[in-house]
Amino acid sequence: MIPFNKPYLTGKETHYIYDAVNSGKISGNGKYTQKCQTFFESHYGFKKALLTTSCTDALEMSAMLANIGPGDEVIVPSFTFVSTAIAFVRQGATIVFADSYADNPNIDADKIEALITDKTKAIVPVHYAGVACDMDKIMELAAKYNLLVIEDAAQAIDSFYVGKDGVKRALGSIGHMAAFSFHETKNIVSGEGGMLTINDERFINRAEIIWEKGTNRAEFFRGEVNKYGWVDTGSSFLPSEVIAAFLWAQIENIDVIQTKRKLLWNAYFDGLKTQSNVILPQVPDYATNNGHMFYVTAKDIEHRTAIIASLKEKGYHAVFHYISLHSSDYYQAKHDGRSLEQSDKFTDCLLRLPLFFELEIEQVNAISDLISHKVK
Ligand SMILES: *Cc1c(COP(=O)(O)O)cnc(C)c1O
Repeated sequence: MIPFNKPYLTGKETHYIYDAVNSGKISGNGKYTQKCQTFFESHYGFKKALLTTSCTDALEMSAMLANIGPGDEVIVPSFTFVSTAIAFVRQGATIVFADSYADNPNIDADKIEALITDKTKAIVPVHYAGVACDMDKIMELAAKYNLLVIEDAAQAIDSFYVGKDGVKRALGSIGHMAAFSFHETKNIVSGEGGMLTINDERFINRAEIIWEKGTNRAEFFRGEVNKYGWVDTGSSFLPSEVIAAFLWAQIENIDVIQTKRKLLWNAYFDGLKTQSNVILPQVPDYATNNGHMFYVTAKDIEHRTAIIASLKEKGYHAVFHYISLHSSDYYQAKHDGRSLEQSDKFTDCLLRLPLFFELEIEQVNAISDLISHKVK
């Protein structure tokens, strides 16, 4: 069976882990954590990067930093992973779910303004498949209504947005804060792992405190204060050096990984562009493609089930994705009842195809062929 995903190992992971272990310093915020954070800040223009144990943790940190509390509303797309919403639900917020575009699972930026009330605190755009949301529109709304923008950039490492001003900015560097994932299903991985990026300087100092159990330990180790103690709320959000060492090996190979993933993505696109059986992903002019995911949209759920079955028969594992959060067991009774048709359509019809570093072009071509001929 060709799996849907297979994490790529560069070969240097255990070497750097050995080095970290040998150094005797294996708790968080050591040499490898610093190397990773410095790389991300200097390559992608984040004002501050903090490694976390997951993207979910980074989102939880952002909710704490934003002072989200009971009575606050947070606008989140319904077609996303649970973490995007739960990080704010834990703080007591009410989630106001937004719909996707008709031709793209991202939050429909033209439908956000109607959802804003005087209780709205934040908008959380998710860059689905690593393809940018319309950040100019979202940032303009945030400025107009004094809201925070927290990008869920879990899938969006090394992807960019070209603004109306013509400037190309890395995803995760545009909102006030952003959260990335290095889970084994993402482009660069550390098993479990994530990162919070902070672009609004007001939040940097407090982010370090929340990261280190509500203490000013980071400042102490830089010699900025002469003792450290409990100064704020927080938790243990920082990963050990063992995880950071693993991630460093991946970072060293990020260009090779990205080149291969984009090659495979383009092969799918070329192989499927002349058929009319499924709809292909649309990358808007303002967005780039980071080769995170190749998905197609089937005609309906039966059509998608038929494609999954015929791929499985030939040994290829293709998978569907999110189930609209507004109709989830946990949240549907709390949802305000609006129907979100595009989110439900992607719930039923979106199909993700195998895409991982070691996949071969011939396999992509075989999968594309099968899909081209799988008319309902
Ligand atoms: C993977 C993912 C997450 C969760 O990432 P973890 O690192 O597993 O916590 C959150 N949001 C989106 C959109 C994701 O794809």
